[in-house]
Amino acid sequence: MDETYTIRIDEFQKLIEGLHRRGYQCIGPVLRQGVVTYDELATSELLPLGIADRQSPGCYRLEKAPLPAVFGAHPGPVSWKTFLWPDFVPIFDALLTADGFEIRSAAVPFEKYAFIGVRPCDLHAIETLDLVFHKKPGSAIDYTGRRKTLLVVAINCTSAADTCFCEAMGTGPEALSGYDLCLTELPDPVDHRFLTTVGSAEGLNLVGELKTESVTLSDLQKVRGLLSDTVKKMAGKLDIADLKDLLYGLLDHPHWSEIAEHCLACGNCTMVCPTCFCTTVADTTDLAGRQAKRYRRWDSCFNLSFSYLHGGYVRSSIAARYRHFVIHKLATWVDQFGRPGCVGCGRCITWCPAGIDITAVVGTIRQMSGASGTKKEHGYVLDQ
Ligand code: SF4
Ligand code: SF4
Repeated sequence: MDETYTIRIDEFQKLIEGLHRRGYQCIGPVLRQGVVTYDELATSELLPLGIADRQSPGCYRLEKAPLPAVFGAHPGPVSWKTFLWPDFVPIFDALLTADGFEIRSAAVPFEKYAFIGVRPCDLHAIETLDLVFHKKPGSAIDYTGRRKTLLVVAINCTSAADTCFCEAMGTGPEALSGYDLCLTELPDPVDHRFLTTVGSAEGLNLVGELKTESVTLSDLQKVRGLLSDTVKKMAGKLDIADLKDLLYGLLDHPHWSEIAEHCLACGNCTMVCPTCFCTTVADTTDLAGRQAKRYRRWDSCFNLSFSYLHGGYVRSSIAARYRHFVIHKLATWVDQFGRPGCVGCGRCITWCPAGIDITAVVGTIRQMSGASGTKKEHGYVLDQ
């Protein structure tokens, strides 16, 4: 496809209406409880116009954007996995009958979602989840159901938070595939526009209902300049050269224990991570003992119980659990799925209450082990 048009901000409501007519539930960035999160976007008026954020290890602040952008905020604590792989899902009911128990599978709703404002790193995160749930025999039926009907409106990143490192992971700041439409926002108080690239027949169909204009050379140059500045801002944050082998060779590195002195094992990093998918099951019964329910809910490798195997904990220390998180993201995932499990969104850095920065941890380990690569002073930030 790759046809590109310009649409004005006034057309955004028409885009949402076009999606509603096609039966999509639109999900996009909205302001809730002091953060820009993702939730139902019933109208374009809910988009967080003029809001930007400032992020650093353990710190998230909203602020007024210098220009009235609607996609001015970087990835927040919620990611798209919340919709594709929800945190709490009923699996079955067990009902006591005269003959024993009757098992009834829970109804699995397959919402038809349109995600609006998916960042390039998060497009890669969805592709990563696909490898786990969608493209394997025995895939999770609810994920697959939602994924098959998903429509994606991506947004290129023309700025980066201080915690972003998609440039190192090769996942941004420009979306290259995996979308139906891809926008690049050009905010302006009087001439607010989006460069809009079509990625699918459905996307072309949608754009056909909007008022479009041709793209000018100066708009294209402006966008290229913004994307290039965004890359420069992130440059040098993480060196992933030979990282898998480096980490495999440093399982006993003392820095894992140094980090464990600060890590609270709270699991925040795994909850906000767009590619962390681990779950456990929870059972409830009614007081009369006649009905039991089983649920699937998110779990975290930072929970001690997560590594319990027939009589013992495989990772009883926090150092082992933190090491597992990093090595799984950056090394073993490559063996499992052919790509890292980290897309460089920076969420785990911002939402770590101890300010632990995965890029700094890896940089320190590299430096201490004498391997060439990114040098950073600490793997954690104590003063916020
Ligand atoms: S490990 Fe951190 S930076 Fe990487 S994808 Fe997960 S939350 Fe984002
Ligand atoms: S690294 Fe940070 S967010 Fe993750 S478990 Fe430790 S303290 Fe919590």
